[in-house]
Parts: sequence; C-alpha cells; structure tokens
Amino acid sequence: MEFETKAIHVGEEPNLTGGDSSDVVIPIHLSSTFARGKLNAPPNKYEYSRSGNPTREALEKRLAALENARFGLAFSSGMAAVTTICLTMLKAGDHILAFDDLYGGTKRIFEKVFNTNFNIELSYVNATDVQNIENSIRKNTRLIWLETPTNPLMKLCDIRAISRLAHENNITVVVDNTFMSPYFQQPLELGADVVVHSTTKYLNGHSDSVGGAIMLSDEALFNQLKFNQNTAGAILSPFDSFLVLRGLKTLPLRMKQHEENAIKIANFLDSSPLVQKVYYPGLKNHPQHELAKRQMSGYGGMMSFVLKGGPEEAKAFLEGCRIFTLAESLGGVESLIEHPASMTHSYLPKEEREKLGISHSLIRLSVGIENINDLLTDIQNALNQIK
Ligand SMILES: *Cc1c(COP(=O)(O)O)cnc(C)c1O
Repeated sequence: MEFETKAIHVGEEPNLTGGDSSDVVIPIHLSSTFARGKLNAPPNKYEYSRSGNPTREALEKRLAALENARFGLAFSSGMAAVTTICLTMLKAGDHILAFDDLYGGTKRIFEKVFNTNFNIELSYVNATDVQNIENSIRKNTRLIWLETPTNPLMKLCDIRAISRLAHENNITVVVDNTFMSPYFQQPLELGADVVVHSTTKYLNGHSDSVGGAIMLSDEALFNQLKFNQNTAGAILSPFDSFLVLRGLKTLPLRMKQHEENAIKIANFLDSSPLVQKVYYPGLKNHPQHELAKRQMSGYGGMMSFVLKGGPEEAKAFLEGCRIFTLAESLGGVESLIEHPASMTHSYLPKEEREKLGISHSLIRLSVGIENINDLLTDIQNALNQIK
C-alpha cells in the first residue's frame, strides 16, 4: 500500500465480522477499564486503558505503518517518548552520543536529569561530519541520538553512514524525525533503529494536541518499551489519539503544500537585500543540499534566516508579521514565526548560542499551508517595517 493510502486506512479498517457497528472512523474509546466474564479469563483484548486502548492502538498501528516499522507506540508528549526510550535503554555508566544541535527539551532531560541524577555520560558532536561521530564513540556508548535537519539551523547528518558505523559498534541509533515527518524522510529505511516524534507538530498538524510517538521494528526492544510505557504511564489519551488519527489522513497533502510554500519563501528571502543568509535544505546554496536530495524525498516546511542589522531590525520584522504568528512550536497548518535567541533557545548561555550560530538576527519560520501570495505579502510588509 502506498503512503497516502496507509495514512487514511491503516488502523481504521471497518470491522465487518460481527458486533452491531462497523464504524468507518474508529470510535473514541473513553472506557478506562474493560470487563471480564470469568475470574480467570482476561477480557477480550483490553484490560485497562493505560496498558492498552482500542483508539490508541489504532493510532499506533498507523504510526508504525507510516514509518515502515513493525511497531508503534503513542505517548502523551514527544518528551514522554524521549524519556521512555532513555528509561528503557540506559543504565548508570552508559554513554549517549548526541548531535550538538538538538531540540532544547531533549538536551535538558539528557543534561539535567539523566546526566546529573543518573550518572549517564553524555557528549555532543557536530554530526554533520561522520568522522566526528567515529572519534567520539566510547566503549560504553549505548545510544547515538540524531535529529536531521536540526532546529533551528537546518543542519543534516547522514543517517545511513552513521547507522552503519553504530552497528559495527553495537550501538542503537535513535532519530527524532519530527521536522521531516515520515512523508519526507524514513530513518528506519536508512538503517536507524528507533524513530521518535513529537506528534504535536506535523503528524497531528493542527496545533491542537500534544503527543509523541516511537516507531521501531525490533520486537524485543518494542516489548521493553511497551512494558515501560505501561509502567511509567505516559500514554496518549483516547481523544488525542483520535485527533492524531484524523490529522494523519491529510499528512501527505499538508506536507506537499508546506514544502511548495517553503521553497517559494526560501527563494524570496534568499534574493532579498535585507536578508544575509537563508538556511533551507532545498536551496542549492545549502552546504548539504546533495545529502538532502539523497536522504529525503522533500525539503519540508521549516527554515531559518539571518536578517541584516541588529536586534531592533529583527524585532521590527517579527512584530511586523500578521499572518505569520509569533509563537513557539511548528508543523501546524498555520504559519508561525519565532526568535530562537529569545524564545526556543533562550535557555542556552549566550556564548553557546553564538558558538552554534543562533544570533539575535536569526529568525525561524514554520511555513503553513495558507495561500502563498498572502504569505509573501506578509513577509514583504514585515520587511517594510525595518527602518
Ligand atoms: C517539539 C519537539 C519535541 C518535544 O515534543 P513535545 O510534544 O513538545 O513534548 C522533540 N523533538 C523535536 C524535534 C520537537 O520539535
């Protein structure tokens, strides 16, 4: 089955074999518990909704299908999914090797919880060069943690090359695929072992649900993750599972439109005399454009750019946008704009931000699916606000 068809049907096949109803859309099963007829016979399939719930399970099947994985799990947030992977795979003394340009919340839990309280070693490398990964592998390295492209500088890493290297060293590769979604990038096909998502972003796509997901094909690891999902308890609610199931049906359509709009905006910004630099993997001048072409089937809807001038100019532009809404998060149908230095990445010390290239003139866009002419006009109007 092709991606678009799976996005609509997997997990919601109508039950035509019995019962009173053959819903085309799976019901929201709110029941927290499920009855049994006999003391020693468990209920049909479900016992208690933390352990398993029909609506969540429908979503989990679909999530797995979209990443070409055998198994999927749905969590109450992206961070809950990240945490469950760490709880499941790491013990004191293990080492995480991570891309230095990760989502802030992931860095925060690695540093402030797993490293500080649980004696998990942690090192960051610039994973754009596989050699840096090779040089940083230790005897106790258990996980390599990647995002590609990264947030907000849109740096890529080579999932295939890094996975090959990792497997020679018995290391598990986790890829946070939130930025691309499985529509544009399939890390498991490239050799990664585990994919994690914030479904809050593109997968749900409508900025009205917070959730997370893990997809993988290793059955033993899946069973451990599922055990810990039930044990630690950070499951996605039935209502949110319904929302993500519904959102996923239009994921292919949305991703195509996000990308079509993003390419036009990237080109527009790239040719503006007020813009110093645009970071978008679809531009030929992106340093890893060739890797992007090889590794992804599209370039997505995220980009960032450096405006000429100082903080005043950036502020005038950010506040001059009307359709691009000034807010954190990404991946919804509506266009968002944000200022990493004072919003998503403000937790980083100034020196570290500057070392990474997150200056006060860096602006990040999550390009939505509105009409492109309105989006371009909005950007032009905001540029006109700069004195
Ligand atoms: C948002 C995000 C997360 C965290 O997900 P939540 O749903 O906010 O907990 C993790 N990784 C990436 C890349 C994200 O954008």
